[in-house]
Amino acid sequence: MNDLPIDLLCRYIRLDTSNPPGNEHLATVFFEQMLKSEGIDCKTYEAKPGRTSIRAEIKGSGRKQPVIMLHHTDVIAANHDEWSFDPFGGEIIDGYICGRGALDTKSLGIMQLLAMIDIKNQNRTPDCDLIFLATADEESGASYGVDFLLHKYPDDFKAGLLLNEGSYVQSGAVREHLAVMISPGEKGACWLRLKRKGTPGHGSTPHSQNPLEKLTSAVKRLLDSKAEISITPIVRDYFRKIALAQDFLKPYADDGKDETLLQIVRDFSLLDNPHINAMLSNTISLNSLHAGTKINVIPSYAEAEIDTRVLPGQRVDEWVNHIKDQLADEDIQIEFITRGEGNASDYNTESYRLIEKTLEKHYPGSITTPYLMLGTTDSRFFRQKGIPSYGFCPAVVPVEHLKSLHGIDEKIGVDSMLKGTEVYSDIIGKLCIE
Ligand SMILES: [Zn+2]
Repeated sequence: MNDLPIDLLCRYIRLDTSNPPGNEHLATVFFEQMLKSEGIDCKTYEAKPGRTSIRAEIKGSGRKQPVIMLHHTDVIAANHDEWSFDPFGGEIIDGYICGRGALDTKSLGIMQLLAMIDIKNQNRTPDCDLIFLATADEESGASYGVDFLLHKYPDDFKAGLLLNEGSYVQSGAVREHLAVMISPGEKGACWLRLKRKGTPGHGSTPHSQNPLEKLTSAVKRLLDSKAEISITPIVRDYFRKIALAQDFLKPYADDGKDETLLQIVRDFSLLDNPHINAMLSNTISLNSLHAGTKINVIPSYAEAEIDTRVLPGQRVDEWVNHIKDQLADEDIQIEFITRGEGNASDYNTESYRLIEKTLEKHYPGSITTPYLMLGTTDSRFFRQKGIPSYGFCPAVVPVEHLKSLHGIDEKIGVDSMLKGTEVYSDIIGKLCIE
């Protein structure tokens, strides 16, 4: 067995890059040592002390445009007490590499590093520049990571293709088939603050201008309003692909019509599944509410924060107007906390097909499908610059393990990591060397 991917991942997990505070320099030093010892040039960028990112490059002939392999080095914080193992222990337990980042996204980072080294060791000039990019601060908005890099050093990140995190090779999602997900797009995070002023007073004498009551009534109207269902191209293709393996989707496999899919969604109450609901509509989640300081005082001000997510292809302004209409309260001011648009890359491309074909070769009998990310990734910044960006990690992960992403007891199978590493190197070899 080749232990290197396993050993490197365990070591990487042991570097505590919880964000906040980040401490991504630990990861940068780790990669710098590895890359330099292989004779690969690299450059480190510091957004502020401790918050560093690293870029390494193997020069190609220029026959094809550069390819960037991206992953983020920071991880979500982990509370030791809730985990059944040390989140930063990097231990192997019962065939799993265990710890924070095992899935999101340190495993992918090691696969990319080894693919880079593999190309270097072939001693052939690739057709394109191959860039390894490990960045800080993905988990809290990227202002010390990709956002900083693309603003400050735009010339270092020109490319014809970006490969980033996305989904996995899921087992248990589509009956007995493995579902290989490649993500060419994601929803936009459009976070809003709703502000309402009112008339203060004594709690013993309630009146009709209590801002907290006004705001909660309006938010209730918004949450009760029916979401509009919309089938975006990625989701259409996703259902087309999985329809080949799911009996209840057979009518859709036969005619491929949107009406048929919508009928099935209704007949089988698929919108009750939060995941499917989020694939088919803009969503709203009320996640914070602030008002009042004392039990007997009517407050003068109230505010709510709502996390809304917008499908690719939909305009944020129209979405916010829709929200305004549903709130139906002229005195509520809406402020953007983030104004993210849904975004998607064209995937009717040679590189997408090549990735798809290679994944199918390694996972015969699987269903390979485009997949709409419901959360955001750093790909959005590259798509904004017109760089096609696809997200995937070619390792098998059981569906029930996906909740450990940002949750507890994150881990990846040793075999999955080994196979994922092999597949990733194969894909990079095919993309970069004819
Ligand atoms: Zn991530």
